[in-house]
Amino acid sequence: MNVLVLNCGSSSLKYQLFAMPEEDVLIKGSVERIGSEEGVHAYKTDDREGSATSPILDHREALRQVLVTLTDQEVGVLDSAEEIAAVGHRVVHGGESFSSSILITADVKRAIADTIELAPLHNPANLLGIEAMEDVLPGVPQVAVFDTAFHQTMPQEHYLYPVPYVLYQRHKVRRYGFHGTSHRYVSSRVPALVGRDLSALNVISCHIGNGASLAAIERGRSIDTSMGMTPLEGVMMGTRSGDIDPSLHEFVMEKEGLSFDELTSMLNKHSGLFGVSGLSGDMRAVAEARAKGSARAALAFAMYEYRIRKYIGAYAAAMNGVDVILFTAGVGENSPLLRSLICAKLTYLGVELDNEVNEKGQGERLISTPASKVSVCVIPTNEELMIARDTNVLVTGLQAKAEF
Ligand code: ADP
Repeated sequence: MNVLVLNCGSSSLKYQLFAMPEEDVLIKGSVERIGSEEGVHAYKTDDREGSATSPILDHREALRQVLVTLTDQEVGVLDSAEEIAAVGHRVVHGGESFSSSILITADVKRAIADTIELAPLHNPANLLGIEAMEDVLPGVPQVAVFDTAFHQTMPQEHYLYPVPYVLYQRHKVRRYGFHGTSHRYVSSRVPALVGRDLSALNVISCHIGNGASLAAIERGRSIDTSMGMTPLEGVMMGTRSGDIDPSLHEFVMEKEGLSFDELTSMLNKHSGLFGVSGLSGDMRAVAEARAKGSARAALAFAMYEYRIRKYIGAYAAAMNGVDVILFTAGVGENSPLLRSLICAKLTYLGVELDNEVNEKGQGERLISTPASKVSVCVIPTNEELMIARDTNVLVTGLQAKAEF
């Protein structure tokens, strides 16, 4: 069956069409600047790529254009849109309502709307994508796959903040964690690399992209993760601060004459690598400047590395030991320097990196030596594939029930 995977933002969307269960990607693409006269739709198949600019006033219009391309006689990969059997949506926040992926119903949409307060930037766009898809492909089953769901296994002593308990009771103030679909996918690849089942392993998964989070995965279940109620908590990121003293807010607002919104924007968009280096939130640019001798870039890089390493130590303690440390996402997959600096000070855990494989190897691989007590891996993430798999399983189950 063909499964369309959608990741909708407020003014953009990304998509991939999968043939399942073969897991072949037939076409992938994106629509940017939705809501403007100059919307851009770009796509790529095995042997072609293209892009077109036109007015795209809303998500419905964007999805209609995607379907036109998918079924185009020349560049398309389908004869008709009816060949799309199901749609899988990335949904950022599932609150406490969802601990796994689910077929979308009116109740599910209501529950996603109920978590808008917790994810005001993301959930409205995700919901918009679901509703637009219902209009464009009526009757086609849709599935929601939540970034938070994988971390719903965290015990209460790990997910609560040490603030008055009543805040949790009244407003669900707690840690949720994100990047769950990525942590789930990469950890599912571990047995193939280390030859042991997840149920026998303590894994620390480091998803380090523009946004970054670590997860402590004990015997296959997430028991802690570095992002919290929002994706601002945790390690230092491209433009986000990660953990800071909450009292900094009042002090900085007063000294700099900032409003609360301005401060929030500073912590999300002008901090992290960008804020410290003063150059960029993009790791490639920071690493390049560091190599050319920029002291601030070197400082930003050192802080970034240190804060990740500190979390690795915390999670090894949280699980009473670690068997596997894995690196994924843009920086995690592509920066041998960061991986080697982190691992150089994990020798107390018995980590021993194979420098050659770390630096020269490609793709999914073990980068520790056979003597290393902890297996260290690089595992390219694939959230879209995970969404396609969940969608395939749920919709196949639905069809089986209908036939029964
Ligand atoms: P997102 O969180 O937006 O999905 P990605 O996972 O794509 O982000 O990661 C983007 C980050 O990966 C950027 O900071 C980019 O500089 C970094 N990156 C990509 N390639 C490299 C590389 N070769 N070396 C270091 N960093 C890289």
